[in-house]
Amino acid sequence: MEKSKITTVIIVAAGKGLRARDGRASPLPKQYQPLQGKPILRWSIETFLAHPHVTHVVVVIAPNSQDLYDTAIAGLNAKKLLPPVIGGASRQGSVQNGLIALASYTPDRVLIHDAARPLVTINTISNVIEKLAESSGAIAAMPVNDTLKLSSQDIDFITKTAPRDNLWRAQTPQGFHYSVITDLHTKYAHLDLTDDASLLEEAGLSVALVPGNPENFKITQAQDFAMAEKLSLPPQQEYRTGHGFDVHAFEAGDHVVLCGITIPHGQKLKGHSDADVAIHALSDALYGALSAGDIGDHFPPSDPQWRGARSEVFLRHAVDLVAQRGGKIIHCDLTLICEQPKISPHRAAMSENLAQIMMVDPARISVKATTTERLGFTGREEGISTMATATIALPQEA
Ligand code: MG
Repeated sequence: MEKSKITTVIIVAAGKGLRARDGRASPLPKQYQPLQGKPILRWSIETFLAHPHVTHVVVVIAPNSQDLYDTAIAGLNAKKLLPPVIGGASRQGSVQNGLIALASYTPDRVLIHDAARPLVTINTISNVIEKLAESSGAIAAMPVNDTLKLSSQDIDFITKTAPRDNLWRAQTPQGFHYSVITDLHTKYAHLDLTDDASLLEEAGLSVALVPGNPENFKITQAQDFAMAEKLSLPPQQEYRTGHGFDVHAFEAGDHVVLCGITIPHGQKLKGHSDADVAIHALSDALYGALSAGDIGDHFPPSDPQWRGARSEVFLRHAVDLVAQRGGKIIHCDLTLICEQPKISPHRAAMSENLAQIMMVDPARISVKATTTERLGFTGREEGISTMATATIALPQEA
């Protein structure tokens, strides 16, 4: 995924939610009703805010819903979340108001999502964003697996079995190049279409289907809440540990870079990038925990663009891959092995710097050092080696 793109999100929450309200004691529109104690709307807001490639999120709310909205997002402290926008007379009008509100942020892309789908996953969002690199539109969708029956008017009897080949259930988010969908919303404002992809279909533009997630269904009827409650139980986590090891030799120079910290020294480390042996080992530990190859696979040493690169680029990439999988970094432990320079005066700065690059609490990063009692290549001060382990939590795949 290209990270430099401005990827915005419109969450449409302007509906009255009357059908879902039926039979429920709560007088609230469905998007403000609680799911595991958290307003339905807040679920998808949090998921989009957590996606590393989403830059701005705007929510379209109904007139007179400001108080409900403020309560729903209470305590959410995210710069990515823009002030809400008031919806129009129809869903289409609401989306259009969201598009207008985003214009000043010069978006490359916009993802449009229904607030009534609280259980969208990071993976589904990634699938849509990735596909937009090659298509002007992409929507999350699931293939139809049930056999489809057509009924007679009185709905009790089958008149026919409908073919289900090539049939998909459209979900949201539906993602588009911002300029394309904005133009089409203006052009087709008079048409009453049920989703945003229909606008591209109307204009003869192709829209890609990418895998959604089965829990990402739309809460419509009152009984859907019970299903959503069941599906929204926290996913089972699995824990994985990866290991990394790296060595760099000394050559003539006056400093080394370890864990991103520059330390004056009589020699420097030899290498293609800044030769930060500690960050290399740590990045490999993260790739290892993901079973995603190693640093050389992602940043080939043969590629001149990584010459002299700051190694934090590699580490950020590995951290990004963990986030894209919906994972979390639990703990990392590094052991730097050398006689010189002395590491202990720099340990705190090192773990703090790594924590900052990795966007985790410094308490989750341990940096230690040892010598090899003057034995071996590190003992002879020919180079520095580092061992690292990384423990991550990943949502258990079905
Ligand atoms: Mg290396």
